[in-house]
Amino acid sequence: MYNFSKKVAFYTLGCKLNFAETSTVSRFFISRGIKIIGFNEVADFYVINTCSVTSNANKKSRNAISRAINLNPNAIIIVTGCYAQLKPEEIKNITGVDYIFGANNKLEIERIIDSANKTENTNVFTSDHKEMKTFFPAISKGDRTRAFLKVQDGCDNFCAYCTIPYARGRSRNQSIKETVEQAKSVAKEGIKEIIISGVNIGDFGKSTGETFLDLLKELVKIEGIERYRIGSVEPELLTDDIIEFAAKENRILPHFHIPLQSGCDEMLKLMNRNYDTALFFSKITKIKSLIPDAFIGIDLIVGVNGETDEMFDKTVEFVKSLDISFIHHFQYSERENTRALNFKPIVRPQQKQERAKIITEISDIKHENFIKSQIGKDFNVLFESTKKNGKIYGYTENYIKVEIDFNKNLINEITKVKITGFADKETVIANIVQ
Ligand code: SF4
Repeated sequence: MYNFSKKVAFYTLGCKLNFAETSTVSRFFISRGIKIIGFNEVADFYVINTCSVTSNANKKSRNAISRAINLNPNAIIIVTGCYAQLKPEEIKNITGVDYIFGANNKLEIERIIDSANKTENTNVFTSDHKEMKTFFPAISKGDRTRAFLKVQDGCDNFCAYCTIPYARGRSRNQSIKETVEQAKSVAKEGIKEIIISGVNIGDFGKSTGETFLDLLKELVKIEGIERYRIGSVEPELLTDDIIEFAAKENRILPHFHIPLQSGCDEMLKLMNRNYDTALFFSKITKIKSLIPDAFIGIDLIVGVNGETDEMFDKTVEFVKSLDISFIHHFQYSERENTRALNFKPIVRPQQKQERAKIITEISDIKHENFIKSQIGKDFNVLFESTKKNGKIYGYTENYIKVEIDFNKNLINEITKVKITGFADKETVIANIVQ
């Protein structure tokens, strides 16, 4: 049934996976002739895809829900995502919410669109995290130069500070064949770069008896997709085979994102992480030995319960010793049902801020030195559609943000440039190489 008069608006919080899933859900509405409008406009449907990685994410999710209800109290309010999975009761208490879909029930959103109406009682569709077996295929399309391709969902690791296994269930994936078909679908739309996304993508293949390396080998055969960026891969799952394959395969970009979380072995044990600093160091060394100009970003959590000053000092010394390009760092946020809640000592908010400040300074120096080491070199940049201050922007293979004078003919084109200097802390200037 087509509904050309109806309008829908989306609000997405959190990770690349959520953006791929929102983009997929939006096509359920588009296929019914329902028009997508901005979240600040009056719509007939509002879909809020929530995040729950921190307590602040929960708060932002609630704010977005309330904004939708205030914009149009007669609209159908649909809430999904990790906060919806972990706290359906809390969301149910927000007057005006009509439907709540847990992480394993997103596919069911399509089923209610045609018959949806304002209801007295909130309809809740969630499943226990142990029963989450469904894989919800998702890919972001049509709204970017690059596409986020969801290849894996869930996690079996249960790190002591993390709620994701409860929010997204067990590690599972679709088959290589299905994933390749999805990638081919965006190649047809002229998209040239895919970001391989998931919760624990190194675990790809667990539910189909395949491997992540097998997947990469099939993806690089697809006509039209020139570049693949690998999302975050757990250190113990980033095998030497994968690194060697990336080193020799141009379509796998020299850009790695590896969660470290702590640089202290005692703390890694407490966190229930599956590696130690020696293994982590060996991965960095391996990458840099085969791909010297690779961009390596790491994740770090500061101030997890149990992290003493001595442990943090070890982390500082360890990250200083790493040949990396950037540190994504987060201040620990207590999450319900996680073992870290009981760890002692509790790190005070001010201490967390002080530790975060120290890590920021280290990261800034590493990022500046990395960019400095790339000045004067040639790269292929995929320019995006954004125009700002008369400039167009894009990323090199090794994830350096480049700006040059705007030229619409460059949009979604892979263009050879020579980096000539800094535009600002994050961005470089470059000349096109004829
Ligand atoms: S690997 Fe650990 S931190 Fe990452 S999603 Fe799984 S449980 Fe969470």
